[in-house]
Amino acid sequence: MLRMPEPLVCPECGESGTWKAQFKFGALDLEEYKVGQRVNWDYTWDVEGERGHHRVAAQGVLEGCPHCHAHGFEEPWDLVVIEIVDDIIVSAVRDTSGEGWWAGEWRVLEE
Ligand SMILES: [Zn+2]
Repeated sequence: MLRMPEPLVCPECGESGTWKAQFKFGALDLEEYKVGQRVNWDYTWDVEGERGHHRVAAQGVLEGCPHCHAHGFEEPWDLVVIEIVDDIIVSAVRDTSGEGWWAGEWRVLEE
């Protein structure tokens, strides 16, 4: 789970707040990451993705609104792209690619 670095405005209630996104890259425990942190690979029994790539983009999905708890918005409103460079989370932004759900939930940008 990643805490989004920039506040987002809820399409349901119109409040701005700090949202969280679920993504699957690295250890799948309930660690809450912030941008700037290193992806944890040490939770060996439930890990997605592969370590050792230079630049990776992982797709995530926003959890509910921190104010009104609305969720399940129409795609792609709730999709985010998380960029990971040398295992450090460097950015997380709304997905504006227009591609919808990626077939894999992460992709290598640069080996
Ligand atoms: Zn809301």
